Amino acid sequence: MTAPEQRKGRARLRDQRRPDLDSLYCINTDGSRNMLQVAEVKGRWTTRKYLFYAALIVVYLAMPWITIGGRPAVLVDIPGRAAYLFGASFTNQDFHLFFFVLMGLGLGLFVVTSLFGRVWCGFACPQTVFMEGVFRPLERLIEGRRLARIRRNEKGGPDKIWRKALKHAVYIVLCWNLAIAFMCYFIPTREMLHLVPFFAGNTTALVWSLFWTGLLYFDYSWFREQTCLIICPYGRLQATLVDYDTIIIGYDPQRGEPRSKGVDTGGDCIDCRRCVDVCPTGIDIRNGLQLECIGCTNCIDACDEIMDKVGKPRGLIRFDSSRGFETGRSRLLRPRFFIYGVVLLGLLALFVVRAAERKTFDVTVLRTTGLPFTIEAGSIRNLYTLQLENKADRSAVYFVAPAAGALAGHPGVEFIVPQPRVELPAMGGAPLTAFVIMPRASYTGAVEFAFTVRDSAGGESADVTVRFRGP
Ligand code: SF4
Ligand code: SF4
Repeated sequence: MTAPEQRKGRARLRDQRRPDLDSLYCINTDGSRNMLQVAEVKGRWTTRKYLFYAALIVVYLAMPWITIGGRPAVLVDIPGRAAYLFGASFTNQDFHLFFFVLMGLGLGLFVVTSLFGRVWCGFACPQTVFMEGVFRPLERLIEGRRLARIRRNEKGGPDKIWRKALKHAVYIVLCWNLAIAFMCYFIPTREMLHLVPFFAGNTTALVWSLFWTGLLYFDYSWFREQTCLIICPYGRLQATLVDYDTIIIGYDPQRGEPRSKGVDTGGDCIDCRRCVDVCPTGIDIRNGLQLECIGCTNCIDACDEIMDKVGKPRGLIRFDSSRGFETGRSRLLRPRFFIYGVVLLGLLALFVVRAAERKTFDVTVLRTTGLPFTIEAGSIRNLYTLQLENKADRSAVYFVAPAAGALAGHPGVEFIVPQPRVELPAMGGAPLTAFVIMPRASYTGAVEFAFTVRDSAGGESADVTVRFRGP
């Protein structure tokens, strides 16, 4: 069998098959990939969605260029172990705060999902935003509309080859640019501009740029909807997050059934399959709520268009709750929403409190190697190493001294701080040493005391407790 005949055979099999609840439509029955050819759609939801996608893409691309107080608005500086977020700076010591941020984002997604289903997937997930908002329209521009694509793919020939080659070349260039834009969240934009396109002298950045470009190209050119269906864990959680009152995209069987090709007979659904042809995950929404539905609204606009043509009211496929589809009534606010909301507010409050408690510097005791003390000329000597970190995005001068009343009950104690004044650059750190010498006669056992570090500008101070040890 020749290649065109094989392609036609596969297409025939695909046409005979309909999306069902037992299998993935994007996988053929023989295990091969059924590359979905998603039809174009226009309508009010599509317009709103594209406007929202455009706004998100602008924010994504513009954010690394925005600076606040001379620092990038959003930057995760991995080598410098620091992060900048809208004017606030964080070091690795503040990492625990990200627990609250991640939990808050996760829980926020739970709240939104319990109310409105998968609006995140359909309107804001980068996978959908770039796939439906950028890569799919480019494919249409180069390869034409759905039927033209299907016919050309079956026929083969030079027309197919040059269009595919052009599409993939454009995809690679675009993926490379998106990869660079993504890396600007980790490498300051100005540095990145000096590095591109060849990354001379920075092999790590070069490897990462190639990795992200390859990953994005693989995803947007081939893997596509399978990221949502197979890899994304959020889709799998959907069943536990939505309930009878969640607003979802659904088909109204009471209005639509029995399906009939005739406009004047049966229900309102004329079984045109337009809602299936526009679905980017290849499902038939008429089979009910499915894990594969990413809430993209394509089927709403497609069906509304058909309803307009056949002179029936819009909304056979619409946003509504399962209760709404069955009884015509919906209930948005319910206990689950309040429980999630209270936990979310609690996390937010904790985050605010912990963030407000943050000092502009941090001091910790580092363990010294070897014996914790030495004995010299009848005295016990302890060595301490303190690690001082400036967490502010300005340089600062610090003074280090024993805390007031340190080891007061031990006569003859001598404190030696070789570097009592320390200047640190913004987000910089340095180890400091200090010695404490105590006459043996004064030593009555291990005892705790503190060093005080004071920020000369802000007057902020912190005590770090250490232990004096002896024989
Ligand atoms: S687009 Fe509307 S009318 Fe056509 S098959 Fe889907 S639900 Fe039925
Ligand atoms: S069923 Fe409708 S909303 Fe869900 S993914 Fe398909 S087209 Fe989008």
